[in-house]
Amino acid sequence: MIFELPKLPYSKNALAPTISEKTIEFHYGKHHQAYVDNLNKLITGSEFEKMSLEEIIKKSVGGVFNNAAQVWNHTFYFEALAPKGGEQPKGKLAEAINEKWGSFEKFKAEFIEAGKTQFGSGWVWLVKDASEKLTIMKEGNAGNPITKGFTPIFTIDVWEHAYYLDYQNKRPAYLDEIWKIINWDLVESRF
Ligand code: MN
Repeated sequence: MIFELPKLPYSKNALAPTISEKTIEFHYGKHHQAYVDNLNKLITGSEFEKMSLEEIIKKSVGGVFNNAAQVWNHTFYFEALAPKGGEQPKGKLAEAINEKWGSFEKFKAEFIEAGKTQFGSGWVWLVKDASEKLTIMKEGNAGNPITKGFTPIFTIDVWEHAYYLDYQNKRPAYLDEIWKIINWDLVESRF
């Protein structure tokens, strides 16, 4: 299968000032594109050529896994951002968050803490297990909870390339601000 860079559901400058047009140009236009291009090169003529992205993630290791998971992770991250975010989840997801953490604010604080303490590159995830129970997970590098049997609901990229142009070394500032641009309706639909 030849994978393509998915279109963003907003313009490149729409997330500013939380995430600048320049960050989107590099993060989406260069990094995400490179993962797609690398994956296509690596799988051509291999056993992975006819698999879906999720199948590749479950069955591969090394370079194929890294690029496939990064394609999946970035698609999942970018599609859940929106210029007018900043609200809170509603409905079933809100109920499940309240049940687990007591309040959205407590969930958010634990999520931010997980992002701050992920040493080096990686991702913070909100996932559900087979019984719909929610958990926050940290994964290094291209890590994706699908490989551990969880269903991802929401993620924040904490690689430096996600925030360095806008926040330099201040990952906590990026983790505080990004909630202004989360599309909770979309996130909710994954739950
Ligand atoms: Mn990234």
